[in-house]
Amino acid sequence: MQLAGKRAIVTGSNSGIGLGIARELARAGAELVVNSFTDSEEDHALAAEIAHETGARVRYIAADMSKPEDCRALIEQAGGCDILVNNAGIQHVAKIEEFPGEKWDAILAINLSSAFHTTAAALPGMYAAGWGRVVNIASAHGLTASPYKSAYVAAKHGIVGLTKVTALEAAGKGVTCNAICPGYVLTPIVEKQIPDQMKTHNMDRETVIREVMLSRQPSGEFATVEQMGGTAVFLCSEAAAQITGTTISVDGGWTAL
Ligand code: NAD
Repeated sequence: MQLAGKRAIVTGSNSGIGLGIARELARAGAELVVNSFTDSEEDHALAAEIAHETGARVRYIAADMSKPEDCRALIEQAGGCDILVNNAGIQHVAKIEEFPGEKWDAILAINLSSAFHTTAAALPGMYAAGWGRVVNIASAHGLTASPYKSAYVAAKHGIVGLTKVTALEAAGKGVTCNAICPGYVLTPIVEKQIPDQMKTHNMDRETVIREVMLSRQPSGEFATVEQMGGTAVFLCSEAAAQITGTTISVDGGWTAL
């Protein structure tokens, strides 16, 4: 198995893209740590389900990615990692003048600062092992902007910058760092935006999906969590050992426009 003997931590992996990536890494043979802040029965059951499906060793560790000490404790409690996927993220949509300050702080903390803290905690172990992969889940919004998403776009551009710095510092040590930039993927974070968009544009669900969301995506199709997982597994492969400090868009052509 391609990733046998490697331990992977995926932040925010009880749902959506993080869960899709966690499943593909476990399928590729990695030992897996599933994370969220909820610590519910469902979270523990999900870890057991992935272990059953894939035959991988899977643990669930609760940690709140809005808290720096939790970010660092996650890496420590896991016993370090060979593969770190910084995926946890939230969204809020409002005009800058009306954007609540606490939402700005929460988005910057969860979508950007958490990756700094987990990476800082994970790198020493990766350097000692002479092998490591840091995969940051940015967004098409790490490369382009949309109105009303100030905090999200700022955090995602920030994580692309952090990706480059991490790659430069890790270069020559067997450790790479790259960012995956998804376009629209139909996960809970996107589902939650549909009712608001229906109201704002006075459109039905299908029209919002087609004309508001996927109008940015030339393929006219959502990307899938399995495609994000496959891209992450590729970035962990030997073929990707010299790919570092870059972004990989999985966005149906959005950023080619
Ligand atoms: P999602 O809402 O399904 O998943 C978000 C994950 O983050 C969940 O597992 C949740 O438990 C976790 N999370 C949220 N706050 C947390 C906290 N304080 N501590 C720990 N975990 C926390 O959404 P998703 O679409 O799967 O998003 C995952 C990532 O992909 C995010 O970084 C998002 O910005 C990015 N992304 C998503 C899309 C898309 O279209 N869905 C596009 C581009 C980028």
